[in-house]
Amino acid sequence: MKLTPILIFFFFSQLLSSQTQDKVDFVRGAVFIEPIPQEKQIKGSVSYQFDVKSDVESIFLDAVNMEFSKVALDDETIDFEYDNRKLTIKPQLLKDKNHTLRIDYVTKPKQTVYFIEGNPIEPPEILAGPFSPDDVIYEGDWTKIVQVWTQGQGKYTSHWLPSLDDMTDKIEFDISIIADMGFTVISNGKLKSMDSIDEFSKLWQFDMQNPMSSYLVGFAIGNFDKVTVQSSSGIPIELYYEPKDSLKVEPTYRYSKRIFDFLEQEIGVAYPWQNYKQVPVQDFLYAGMENTTCTIFSNQYVIDSTAFVDKNYVNVNAHELAHQWFGNLVTETSSEHHWLHEGFATFYAYLAERDIFGNDYYYWRLWETATALNRFSEDDQGEALQNPNAGSLTFYEKGAWALVMLQEKVGEEAFKKAIKTYLKTYAYQSVSIPDFITEMEKESGLDLKEFHQTWLRSDEFPMEEVKAFLSKKSASLNRFFELQDQIGEQKDTAETIVKSNWENFNSSFLKRNLVLKYGSQFSPSFLQEVLHTDDLKERQSVILSQNTIPKELQTEMESLLNDTSYTTIEAALYRLWTDFPEKRAQYLDATNGIDGFPNKNIRLLWLTLALVTPDYQPDRTPTYFQELTQYTGSAYHFETRLLAFQYLQNIGGFAPESLKNLIDACNHHVWHFKKSAMDMLNNFLKEEGNLAKVKSLYPSLSQEEKRFLDKTLGE
Ligand SMILES: [Zn+2]
Repeated sequence: MKLTPILIFFFFSQLLSSQTQDKVDFVRGAVFIEPIPQEKQIKGSVSYQFDVKSDVESIFLDAVNMEFSKVALDDETIDFEYDNRKLTIKPQLLKDKNHTLRIDYVTKPKQTVYFIEGNPIEPPEILAGPFSPDDVIYEGDWTKIVQVWTQGQGKYTSHWLPSLDDMTDKIEFDISIIADMGFTVISNGKLKSMDSIDEFSKLWQFDMQNPMSSYLVGFAIGNFDKVTVQSSSGIPIELYYEPKDSLKVEPTYRYSKRIFDFLEQEIGVAYPWQNYKQVPVQDFLYAGMENTTCTIFSNQYVIDSTAFVDKNYVNVNAHELAHQWFGNLVTETSSEHHWLHEGFATFYAYLAERDIFGNDYYYWRLWETATALNRFSEDDQGEALQNPNAGSLTFYEKGAWALVMLQEKVGEEAFKKAIKTYLKTYAYQSVSIPDFITEMEKESGLDLKEFHQTWLRSDEFPMEEVKAFLSKKSASLNRFFELQDQIGEQKDTAETIVKSNWENFNSSFLKRNLVLKYGSQFSPSFLQEVLHTDDLKERQSVILSQNTIPKELQTEMESLLNDTSYTTIEAALYRLWTDFPEKRAQYLDATNGIDGFPNKNIRLLWLTLALVTPDYQPDRTPTYFQELTQYTGSAYHFETRLLAFQYLQNIGGFAPESLKNLIDACNHHVWHFKKSAMDMLNNFLKEEGNLAKVKSLYPSLSQEEKRFLDKTLGE
């Protein structure tokens, strides 16, 4: 899984409280699912084949809030116990036999399956066929729902499928899903068949050949097209997109084949599954999730070429793919060994990025994470990688660093060989950190006790060791460290020192980072010199480093409004508009119509500035206000909604429509968005007269919203 940057600092892995059962081994699960969109329910049936390893009298499956219409062992109905979390049967079964357990159920999942509403889509074309309306067995109303997708890890697949929360029991899941005619279904494994079952719906049947843990089972249903490419080794890679985004396919999925080929080569073990698919969905909880063969990721990464400069999918793309080996092929026995998932996926994603963007990118990226980890460690917040409750910064970034340093210690050749043996030895099984370390010690002939202590057991981040490594590997970082030492606390000397060397720096990363660090001290004339470059990121570092724009730089800074970078344009528009009020109308005219990133960062800023600029197109003010308000609605991505709410809050612009949307947001499935919405609502209510405004909305609210509001208002 890859978190969105905003989540990195306060995401903590959940302690798994799942129970294990070692007397039976679930081998295969044939799953049949029918989502019922109007009820947000899942109707399902699963048939498990299991082996009995030693005589057993009790067998359970994790199954949350389900109603069962049938529980049968070897085709005979059997009594069961159910406490709303666990389904238990108590048969007398002898060792070395295999059996089938079938469960038919219906459930309304509170989490793990997400039904996304949106603008109504066209109803499916009614096909002529040998059916009469009375034969219709499928009655799903898909007119309101635009997508249904799952997130198993951390949320538990047992909310929609009786399965095993315990990660160590791996099952070959073959999934079949029934959905409306107009939709595409994507799930684990290879699509075996897709048949119309009546004039409204289709059955999609997928086949897996190898087992996986239950948290990796997933599906996505929506209006998707796809492009298929093939890896050099012949694996089909399906890249999904919504038809409206067809022009964004290339920048979104840029380098996908290259990343795939690179990882297969670098890891040294062939991709272990039949195919690979990637699906962008609306309002996803994280950046991406590596369901086996079926990565689901946030559609905020569906981007155009301009966005690629600042925010692209490359890292998440590589991270989720690396999990197909590290996490999916070999799976941690428990969260104490979470390094084996996230540290490895993060490390291999950086290697893939190095292959594409070069060494300088790689080492500066590592330096950035080292800085964050060091700050964390110095604040006594440091965590050991083996701490099962560590935060994501530890599991992901310290985890990647541990592998960088391990590779350095044992050498690239031994490292690669050990990785290969480790993956082959434990393929489709569970692993622990000692399993991995043992392979590494065997292959390298080294004693890794000290490594284990420093990197896996200790809470500290060994910054000195890390800095020495980076100085040795990267000439530009070495230069950066020297300049930092030279300048020290005397920031006023920064310009003289940096300027005298500027022409000799041949690293764009070095230049940008010097400007970001010391740019607020630089004179206008030097900044002007810096701006005389075609390097978009160097130019961007100038605008990001300035708290106010010196008058002498006005013209140069105005040229940034034409740069092909949404981060640059947003920063430049805001700074110029603030610092040079007399030219506000011109700046707004120059940037009208630019959306920016998928979250519409520039458009939302633009609308806000247009609304607060006196005399700017006064006849259009109501239209702009309406547009900004509209972006708070549930048809938009939560990132867009959040920005729109924040801007409206800043300009005191909450009106009935946006307030109603704010109340709706307080019930959103993305926790940090929900939390922000609740904070904003509470702040709004603190101001006099606003309570009445909120109360007047009551007649238009749903029962659920009314209940929530009653609670919030303490009534
Ligand atoms: Zn991950």
